[in-house]
Amino acid sequence: MANSVLTAPATASAPANPYITAQRQFDQAAAILELDPGLRAVLREVRREFTVNFPVRMDDGTIRVFTGYRVQHNLTRGPAKGGIRYHPQVSLDEVKALSMWMTWKCALTNLPFGGAKGGVICDPTRMSQKELENMTRRFASEISLLIGPESDIPAPDVNTNPQTMAWIMDTISMEKGYSVPAVVTGKPLSIGGSEGRPAATGRGVTVVTLEACARMGWNPSECSVAIQGFGNVGSVSAELLAEQGFKVVAVSDVFGGIYNSEGLDVPALLEHHRRTGRVGGFAGSRQEISNSALLELPVTILIPAALENQFSIDNAARVQAKLIVEAANGPTTPEADDIFHQRGVTVIPDILANAGGVTVSYFEWVQDLQSYFWEETEINSRLTKIMQRTYQQMDDLAREHRTTLRMGAYCLAVKRVADATAVRGIYP
Ligand code: GLU
Repeated sequence: MANSVLTAPATASAPANPYITAQRQFDQAAAILELDPGLRAVLREVRREFTVNFPVRMDDGTIRVFTGYRVQHNLTRGPAKGGIRYHPQVSLDEVKALSMWMTWKCALTNLPFGGAKGGVICDPTRMSQKELENMTRRFASEISLLIGPESDIPAPDVNTNPQTMAWIMDTISMEKGYSVPAVVTGKPLSIGGSEGRPAATGRGVTVVTLEACARMGWNPSECSVAIQGFGNVGSVSAELLAEQGFKVVAVSDVFGGIYNSEGLDVPALLEHHRRTGRVGGFAGSRQEISNSALLELPVTILIPAALENQFSIDNAARVQAKLIVEAANGPTTPEADDIFHQRGVTVIPDILANAGGVTVSYFEWVQDLQSYFWEETEINSRLTKIMQRTYQQMDDLAREHRTTLRMGAYCLAVKRVADATAVRGIYP
């Protein structure tokens, strides 16, 4: 049982603007690549940003107006691709940053997609299923100007799931008059979803963690792991890493975290989470901890699997982990990146670490377009190959440029998009 509460000191500085972070990361890569100034100017901005304010009838009969966004950063290498998130802190700059990261993620793994992202400012924990359905359907209709199998394909992200995608697919299909499964990925299997998609991001996290360990000469059974976030990505990562022999010692969700230096029984924890909806109160925990304290635990591997800006100048020096695997998008500010680099902490960047999700989204889209579906073993083995190959390419470039893995990944991704832009030329 939990018997004490650890808290980390409050952080001092204001959270970084994620879009500024994304642009700073891009600028750094553009400098290493000595990218043409014209191309730089094109790629450091988003192509389209779309804001919608739309009404939704709530259960008590009142009408509420919600604000949502769909941003397309780039469409040079194919349709835009990226999830939709529901969260009270969604902002246009956050969605712009996430759309740019999607461009690099898809280019890095060599998927024929550009980057997009969407979000609605709302608190889904305070909404009924009916209200969520009404909001999702109206938002889908509002952004139907942009989305489609050949133009822009949404997927799940924070607080959205296969059911959300089913409502979007149905709304677009009703408006068209026929079924359009390929308009979204991450759908339920019964309407054209893919085997392996729900676990894909966590599976990708596990593959790259194993790759990093192999390069460092670490045995999984000697590695302790702390995971921040227990949504789809965090919980599946915990499950698969435990299966591979890693010792998962701490996990957290929005309510707080739990810690047991001897290791948590992950299957029992998953069962507890399914039953209670939270990780807190798990019988196998020795200590309750805050989300920020989890990041400073004495562990080998740290996996942020929640929101942006978890590592900043305020806490990066106190991180004890030797390896950080960015399952979340944008968890590390550029200042924290510098501190980790100086201290020899290896960071597997988000655009590779969490790319398993969009990779299997690509497989889902291809299967929908062909109406021909693959077996899960096929999906998982193709996913593993792509993640392993990309890790190697990122590592090679990081060594060649004597830089971080993030910059190795960016150099590969940005160059692919820049080359495609240059060869297509400027219209008209
Ligand atoms: N939301 C996920 C991400 O950030 C998946 C996006 C997708 O599958 O399109 O990568």
